[in-house]
Amino acid sequence: MCNRSLTWTPSQGRTTASSDKHFLRFDTWRVSWRALSSQGPLSQIIPYRRFTNEGFHADTSVRELIDNCNGIWPEMWVNLNPIAFSSPIPSVSDNSDVIRWRKATGGGVDFSIKEALRSFSGVPQRLLWTKFVWFKGHIPKLSFCMWVACYGRLPTQDRVGSWLPENHALSCPLCGTCADSHDHLFFTCSYSRQVWRCLKRMVNLHGFPEVWSTILEQLVENRGPRSLSQRLALSGAVYFIWRERNRRLFQHQKQPPIVVFKQIRDLIVAREATWRRGKKT
Ligand SMILES: [Zn+2]
Repeated sequence: MCNRSLTWTPSQGRTTASSDKHFLRFDTWRVSWRALSSQGPLSQIIPYRRFTNEGFHADTSVRELIDNCNGIWPEMWVNLNPIAFSSPIPSVSDNSDVIRWRKATGGGVDFSIKEALRSFSGVPQRLLWTKFVWFKGHIPKLSFCMWVACYGRLPTQDRVGSWLPENHALSCPLCGTCADSHDHLFFTCSYSRQVWRCLKRMVNLHGFPEVWSTILEQLVENRGPRSLSQRLALSGAVYFIWRERNRRLFQHQKQPPIVVFKQIRDLIVAREATWRRGKKT
């Protein structure tokens, strides 16, 4: 995936940049470079044997390849793939090489982790969840669970049901009325809803949705919870309800909703206190 998204504009065309802070190594044959970026790296358009037949090898630098071609692609390559090699051979300058990140929507930008994540997520809007998940003062285990839930990747019964035998009965471990899913657990399940409503009252989130898909819409539209306690309440509800669900399913241990609520409440109070102390010092 990185190879498909990285675009290398060759200038000095170095194979390696060992003097740079970050050691980079480019393989002319396998890495996409701008002249052929619409066609993919060389490895996708000519067999390695045809590459080496011209005297090149995997360690050949782009500059060496271009210099050796003398302005004309090898005839064998053109015969093999006339469309790919209709692109002119790029010229190289003595400026430094430039690595750019090719965006899924087209165009290139300077490489950054943020841009890479945006490409991998597939839907850039999902990044808008970030500030409601990884906020200042977040609790990592809560945020991680929330992040997975935002992507709909918790292994709920509606997702794993197809892997189980046909006669395997599926029912929500919390209420027992139907198979569980993200929308059911957060928070249309009668058990979860009790926990969530207690929390909403506690942190003044009156009117905030009780259906996961609607909650996600609000996060994307930047209408998510604002204060630390409100954000902790949401991620805490997701984490503790998911934990309670798993305790019942795998350890056969049950706690009533009020106990789960108190666990989340105590965690929020403790976190807020340490966060305030940390800000004062
Ligand atoms: Zn349920």
